[in-house]
Amino acid sequence: MKLALTVQMESISKSARKKIFVTRILPSDAMNLLKQKFDVEFWPHEYPPPKDVLIEKIKKVNGLICLLTEKVDREVIEVANPDFWGISQVAVGYDNIDIEAATEKGIYVTNTPGVLTETTADFAFALLMATARRIAEADRYVRSGKWKIPWGLTMFLGQDVWGKTIGIIGMGRIGTAVAKRAKGMNMKILYYDVYRNERAEKELGVQYVDLETLLKESDFVTIHVPLTPSTYHLIDEDKLKLMKRTACLINTSRGPVVDEKALYRALKEGWIWAAGLDVWEKEPTDPDNPLLTLENVIATPHIASASYETRTKMAMIAVENMIAIMEGRIPPNLVNKEVLKVRPPMKK
Ligand code: NAD
Repeated sequence: MKLALTVQMESISKSARKKIFVTRILPSDAMNLLKQKFDVEFWPHEYPPPKDVLIEKIKKVNGLICLLTEKVDREVIEVANPDFWGISQVAVGYDNIDIEAATEKGIYVTNTPGVLTETTADFAFALLMATARRIAEADRYVRSGKWKIPWGLTMFLGQDVWGKTIGIIGMGRIGTAVAKRAKGMNMKILYYDVYRNERAEKELGVQYVDLETLLKESDFVTIHVPLTPSTYHLIDEDKLKLMKRTACLINTSRGPVVDEKALYRALKEGWIWAAGLDVWEKEPTDPDNPLLTLENVIATPHIASASYETRTKMAMIAVENMIAIMEGRIPPNLVNKEVLKVRPPMKK
């Protein structure tokens, strides 16, 4: 009798555990914490789950932990079951999630800001330096056996970085972290944003200008805005034509912020000097993307936040956000704060 009761209690408490679907295997610390708290089902592959899998899971589970590769659009969100509470994204950007649809349905959406700021800024600056000094092109040259003359006065000439002018589009967390690095390189720092960042102006001496001035005056233009309807193709043919012929464009934000077709012409026809691209209009980008035929393009596969330390921290924060939602607390990184009016936190 006692045994039967224990078994029954266990099965009740087990069934009371919330169910979470995770769209990739997370680093082990994050996975262990998640399994302690929830019944976890995860997508075991390196590639993202197809949409029909997302649709099937969201009908059954209480929460979803996903990456920016998953398109969590209205079609997916609308079939969520009434006990589905939260989408916890393992990234700071969340343009893959239909926030409006989630809010309407009372679904909490969270992201992982802050922890990846310095890592992404390191990468943006690395890409800037590598683009200016043609490092990837020079590496290809050495490996291909083309290096015949020991030292050439005009071999692989690049652009100086020290003391030049950098234009930062989007002076938020990552933009500000890039400005700190640029200050160390004795650069003049211009920025454009929809908001003034008075703290950065005071502490780093950055100068607010309109976008046109930034593009005309900068030797390096680096983009750090989110992808929204207002930033889609923010850098198009007209904007590229404003830039210096010696300028480098660095994009570690989101691919569609730059019109790739216009960028190809700009680089091919010499309107600008070079580009360093971590993000693409379509990811993975097609191997026959014309930009990849150009020596003055450095191409990386969306890895700006990819350090051991940061990816682990991002996963832990995503799990903590999910725990908060499931424990009826307001999660630390709630993106759609209006959801609180639609559906107050879960009752414990
Ligand atoms: P943030 O919110 O702190 O900063 C974004 C800034 O852009 C804000 O200051 C905002 O006012 C400004 N902005 C928004 N719309 C604008 C517009 N139309 N014109 C000008 N400025 C505008 O975000 P963050 O943490 O600095 O991250 C920025 C973006 O970087 C993310 O949204 C993400 O898409 C991208 N990101 C990419 C990687 C990567 O792996 N390549 C890694 C991290 C972040």
